[in-house]
Amino acid sequence: MKEQIKVLVKLQHLDTETARIKSTLNDVSKKLENLDSSLIEIEQTITSQESVLNELKKEYRDYESDAKMNLAKNKKSQEKLRSVKTNKEYQSLLKEIEDVKSKNSLIEDKMIECLDRIDETEDIIAKKKNEYLQFSDRIKSEKQSIEHEAGIDKKKLDELDMDRKNVSGLIDSQLFKKYLVIKEQNQGGLAVVPVKDAVCHGCNVNLPPQLYNELFRYKSLKFCPNCQRIIYLKE
Ligand SMILES: [Zn+2]
Repeated sequence: MKEQIKVLVKLQHLDTETARIKSTLNDVSKKLENLDSSLIEIEQTITSQESVLNELKKEYRDYESDAKMNLAKNKKSQEKLRSVKTNKEYQSLLKEIEDVKSKNSLIEDKMIECLDRIDETEDIIAKKKNEYLQFSDRIKSEKQSIEHEAGIDKKKLDELDMDRKNVSGLIDSQLFKKYLVIKEQNQGGLAVVPVKDAVCHGCNVNLPPQLYNELFRYKSLKFCPNCQRIIYLKE
């Protein structure tokens, strides 16, 4: 029985280590996803700013064509001025020209405002693109090191799997089943726990003295009366 318990303890160690590495590997995919999502965020900002920029450029072109139209209108009016006969006509044409001029001056203000916003937006896009480049370089190297670590862990996992197969082969099949059932009852956690100074290290409860004494004899498999785990003497 002492040998069997030793093997069970070894199995428990292998399973604990396997669970630890699996949770590390699980974190790895989360880490990689987080890195990617930061990059995607920058990408989305660039895309949205680019569409803002396109809108602004379109707005500018519209103002520009309005201004051109007004200039052409005034040119015609100026020509007409030469051929008007009455003072009234002359005055009204002058007023028309002035109106169009003041309209155009408003349009020019808006064009300047629009150009300022185009400059600002282009600045933001350039900065974000630069940020993207720097960040993607950093992410690339971070990813490489994370993936390198993960590769080592995966290799370890394979080795642990092999060891587990070997160790499982050394355990009595009934004991192995029991181990699996207790592990299941503990949500994949510890099924085999050490006892030191009569205290179960699975639940920290004191064992009855008789049970504690029996542990020294290795006659049969013992279980903690409190947490039902397989217990062994920590020597
Ligand atoms: Zn216990």
